[in-house]
Amino acid sequence: MLPPHRHDSPLEAPLSLGDLPENADWDGRIAYLDRDGVLNRWKENYVNSPDDVEILLGSGKAITSLRGMGFRICVVTNQSPIGRGLWGHDVLAQINAKLQELLLEEDQGAEIDLILYSPYLPSEGSWSRKPNPGMLEAGRQIVDNAHRFPGKPNNLSYGDDWIDRPDESDSILIGDRKSDIIAAGRFGVKGILCDSESGISGVIDQILSDKER
Ligand SMILES: [Mg+2]
Repeated sequence: MLPPHRHDSPLEAPLSLGDLPENADWDGRIAYLDRDGVLNRWKENYVNSPDDVEILLGSGKAITSLRGMGFRICVVTNQSPIGRGLWGHDVLAQINAKLQELLLEEDQGAEIDLILYSPYLPSEGSWSRKPNPGMLEAGRQIVDNAHRFPGKPNNLSYGDDWIDRPDESDSILIGDRKSDIIAAGRFGVKGILCDSESGISGVIDQILSDKER
């Protein structure tokens, strides 16, 4: 098993969550978001430094809207440049921090609860690299644990080893690639494909109106 990595923290460390807007109770829904082409501009040769981070217009507002609906926000991103030796976890940490900063600059409610990433090469066959669902499995367990057992370390299970899975049918994954949608299907969450030029803001109105029905 090549497990996912977590921004700013060991995977097993307890996650502390900020309040949802208006201190709403969490009903168990998570919005799993791909990063490049969803929140920030996708670049053919990767986003390689904090200066490369350019958020797609409306991403911050969209995250705030999702939080307002009661979703926790979990970013799940393949980052093979680390596996390719282009740069290290420290550079990715700076990139992710810059992304969060820019999102909050656009909208002060745009807090990401958890960022998971897969640093592996496609050839390594990691369960945590999309289109496999390992990052989603880890995200669900970390967020659930943060609510149910605050302060306790995460003991994560994957694949057939994870039993008693919660219902994911009200959660969503937003991605700009087929691999995102396949990962969503393998995990059992609704996958929503967005255009990589417009990102999440191109699909948020549809999500908001779906949920109102
Ligand atoms: Mg993408």
